[in-house]
Amino acid sequence: MFENKDNSSTSIENLGEFGLIDHLTKNFKIKQKSTVKGIGDDAAVISCDSKKEMIVSTDLLLEGVHFDLSYMPLKHLGYKAVVVNLSDIYAMNAEPTQITVSIAVSNRFPIEALDELYAGIKAAAKVYNVDVVGGDTTSSTTGLLISITAIGTVNKGEAAYRSGARENDLLVITGDLGAAYMGLQVLEREKEVFKVNPNSQPDLEPYSYLVERQLKPEARKDVSKLLEELQVKPTAMIDISDGLSSEILHICKNSNVGCNLFEEKIPLDPQVISTCEEFNLDSTTIALSGGEDYELLFTIKTEDYPKIKANPHLTVIGHMTNEKEGMHLISRAGTKIPLVARGWNALKNNG
Ligand code: ADP
Ligand code: MG
Repeated sequence: MFENKDNSSTSIENLGEFGLIDHLTKNFKIKQKSTVKGIGDDAAVISCDSKKEMIVSTDLLLEGVHFDLSYMPLKHLGYKAVVVNLSDIYAMNAEPTQITVSIAVSNRFPIEALDELYAGIKAAAKVYNVDVVGGDTTSSTTGLLISITAIGTVNKGEAAYRSGARENDLLVITGDLGAAYMGLQVLEREKEVFKVNPNSQPDLEPYSYLVERQLKPEARKDVSKLLEELQVKPTAMIDISDGLSSEILHICKNSNVGCNLFEEKIPLDPQVISTCEEFNLDSTTIALSGGEDYELLFTIKTEDYPKIKANPHLTVIGHMTNEKEGMHLISRAGTKIPLVARGWNALKNNG
């Protein structure tokens, strides 16, 4: 049992996820010369030799918090667990090479179920060309827990950090936003319908893109290659796991810059727009706070704009400003609204 000598206790909800990480890790000092970047980015960067750096990132997925097995098939879960980790490696502008997989399982899961989970892990390892090189297995008294560590490499000096954005840089996003969150809304709704009427057969066809983005997300393995071909070096980069606003705030905070984000530029799939209307949700709010899109958000120098402007995978959504100007969303009507991190927060009871 945890005993607190002076009887004080602070709820972790007061800090939130990012506050908690800051609080727990602020006193760790880097001692090794090979540690190029420790805590605080999408992944750690470790120098290997004079030419290469190694990238390491780890994530934990917990049943009931990050996934619900009533609509998440285990094969998809295995696939997604890998993809989510690899996305952090791509967000450093690096190539993933290996993963380790650790699980805690209860005897509620037969071997066949774990085979399904591993079939998904295997499929992702094949698609993303990574080797599974280890892990750990232990028992769990409650739900299923999966922790994956991803390792990658990048040429020395080419890693993209959250801290490299400069005033006037353009803010660029790959793909489109909000679909994974709306997919979750659709699946949650169908789960409720199913509880009332177990014979109901959901028609998910109008939501196919949304459901796929939620259940079978892909990481942007194409982007670092694409930027290399276009001869564009991102000044900062992060992946969209928590939602656009929270990721922009990470870049701004780490780079000491402000930002203007233009609402009208945020790329949305037509299914996101129509489903938001159906659920009576504001699509901009969903793009800003939904999360789990696993797209890449990055900044580039203004002079690189002509190189990317015609590319269908990339959308310029704003630009970085002086830190003093703060972080704003410019609405369609031209109103300046302060950007706040309402990113999905696993430590609150809305998980
Ligand atoms: P992401 O959303 O990309 O997974 P996180 O917000 O989880 O990023 O983590 C931010 C940084 O904090 C990363 O460098 C991560 O390795 C580090 N971190 C997160 N949790 C812990 C922890 N419990 N102890 C030490 N470092 C942590
Ligand atoms: Mg994390």
